[in-house]
Parts: sequence; structure tokens; C-alpha cells
Amino acid sequence: MNLSEFDLIDSYFKRSTTVQNSGVALGIGDDCALLDIPEGYQLAVSTDSLVCGVHFFEDVDPYRLGYKALAVNLSDLAAMGALPKWVSLAITLPNGAMVNNNPNWLSEFTRGFFALADKFDVVLVGGDTTKGPLSITVSVKGIVPRGLALQRNKANLGDLICVSNFIGDGALGLSIKLNELAVTNPQYFVDALELTEPRVDLGILLRGLASSCIDISDGLTQDLIHILKASHCAANIAIESLPLSKTMRKEVNLGKLNNDEAVQYALTGGDDYELLFTISENNLRLLEQRIAQQTQPIPSLSVIGRTTLQQSELIAFFKEKQAVTYSTGGWDHFK
Ligand code: ADP
Ligand code: MG
Repeated sequence: MNLSEFDLIDSYFKRSTTVQNSGVALGIGDDCALLDIPEGYQLAVSTDSLVCGVHFFEDVDPYRLGYKALAVNLSDLAAMGALPKWVSLAITLPNGAMVNNNPNWLSEFTRGFFALADKFDVVLVGGDTTKGPLSITVSVKGIVPRGLALQRNKANLGDLICVSNFIGDGALGLSIKLNELAVTNPQYFVDALELTEPRVDLGILLRGLASSCIDISDGLTQDLIHILKASHCAANIAIESLPLSKTMRKEVNLGKLNNDEAVQYALTGGDDYELLFTISENNLRLLEQRIAQQTQPIPSLSVIGRTTLQQSELIAFFKEKQAVTYSTGGWDHFK
């Protein structure tokens, strides 16, 4: 049976919200949603598109696609220190609820999407449903106390450069999916690619302490360069400080890739969705105190370098204090 546009909206996207203090005065069903922003807060808005054949394969697990479509957007809010509140979803479907001959495709997609939305108390408040080549555009809205959003252009000279958790695993997962590489524990890396954890709690803890912040989507060096250009400074990065996961190190020890390749994944791979931020030494101590008071788990942090005055290159790499050269490329859709 072919469902109409309105049947699809009613069956898959409209839900009664159970979120307390959601701020949703009017949700799905009218021409616009009406949202209440609390006094003293600013609205943080971000949009990301996922296009079939560019960002995902048609045979991707629809649960994981729904999850990731929201995760990459929540990661942008995390990078600004915003609390996620609302989301809208524009979806283009080739054949109603059925994709890739899977009649459960849309219900699996929304199950993944809502699993993450519910985890962060984010309410789907609207969107658009059209027919055509499969693509997904998610727009998230969050709130941040006026003046406390973390921007890219406020890094100070001599700040520490920090990154959360591990980097390089997601990019390795993509190489595995593209059959470019075989490792002993492929599922760990594919999970890192597809089940990204947006660092919302950490972003909120960084408010008022980090001088700048970005989420790593296109690769550490490329995303760091965005901060450096916006803040008019350069960076020294210590290669041995890059946080490679235990699983990544194990694959290196087993000879599945060499150490330089692992470092290259971490520097330029992308798809990490970890937070990269600059912070003064004093504020890092205050951040560690804040983190120690949390009951929910906060990912580990690694200091990987320092901001400096620009000499020639924007980023200078060091290995055991010796200058070394690494490629600083990253993902660019138009290159
Ligand atoms: P209009 O024609 O006024 O733009 P639509 O017919 O496109 O409205 O959508 C009807 C209602 O359903 C709107 O409130 C819209 O926000 C919502 N909606 C449509 N598609 C989606 C979707 N994929 N997810 C969530 N809400 C949706
Ligand atoms: Mg519309």
C-alpha cells in the first residue's frame, strides 16, 4: 500500500511529546512550529544534509542512518556549548516508507533518529516530506545563555589545544567499509563511524572556560585550521599526544597498519565528532574540577598542543620535540 505524504507524516514523524519543559507551544501539524526560548538565552541553529551516495551507502542500516543524521547535528550544538531542544527533519524518499526493497526502512530510520532524540530530550517539531532521490536534511535548535556560546574566533595566544576521547577510529571505519583496509576488529571502527556520540555534556561544561571550540567532522588539522584562521594564530601539535584508541594501537601492534598511518587517520581522517577546543592552563584546571563533580560520564581529554604566533605554516608538528612533517589535508566536498 502506498501511503500519502500526510499518512507518512502522521505514521512516522508525529508523536506526542513527553519531554518536560520542552518549550514546544505548537509542534507538527501547522504551517510553523512555535517554540518558547527562555529569558536570557540565545537560539543556536545548525543544519546538516546527508545525501545517498555521498554521505552514506544505500544499503546502510537505516537505524544507524537515522541515528547519525541527528548525531552529526547535535555535535554542532555541542561544539557551541548549546543545550539541544528541537529538531526538524526534511526527508526525500524515492518510494514512500520503502527504500532498497526494505518495507521497514522508514520505521527503522525513525527508530534510530528517535532513540538519540529521546536520549537528549530533543523534540521533532516539523519538517518536510518529499519524493525523489534519497536525502536527509536535519536542522537542530538549541539554547545557550546569552554570550556564553563557544565560537571559533576567540582562541588566545599560548592556550592549550585539547581534544576529547579518541580520534581516527571513524575514518578507519570508513576505510574498512570501502574495503581499503582489513583489520582484526572491524566492527569497533564501523561502530565509531556510524554510532557517533555527540559530546553535548562536555560542550556545556566548556561554557565560560574554553576560548574556542569546534567539532571534528572533516579531520583534526582541517578543523583546527578553522579555529586558527578565525582566531589569527598558529599551533604546535605534539604527535605523540594524539589520543589513539586502544583498539587502534592494537591494530598497529598486530601490523594491520603502521604507526604513521594511524597518525594520518587521526590528523586528517574526519568523522570523529569529538570536540577540539582551546583553553588557558588555569581554565583547564577549573574544567577538570567541573568534570570531577559530574555524575554522568564525560570523555577523557588530551592536551595535544598549544597556540602560537604564526610564522610560516599554520600548524607545526613535533615528535618528541623534533619538528616533523605531516599532511594537513581533510575532507572537502568540492575538491
Ligand atoms: P506545508 O505544506 O504547510 O509546508 P507540510 O504539508 O509540508 O506543510 O507539512 C505538514 C506538517 O507536517 C508541518 O507541520 C510540517 O512541519 C510537518 N512535517 C512534514 N514532514 C515532516 C517530517 N519529515 N518530520 C517532521 N515533521 C514533518
Ligand atoms: Mg512544507
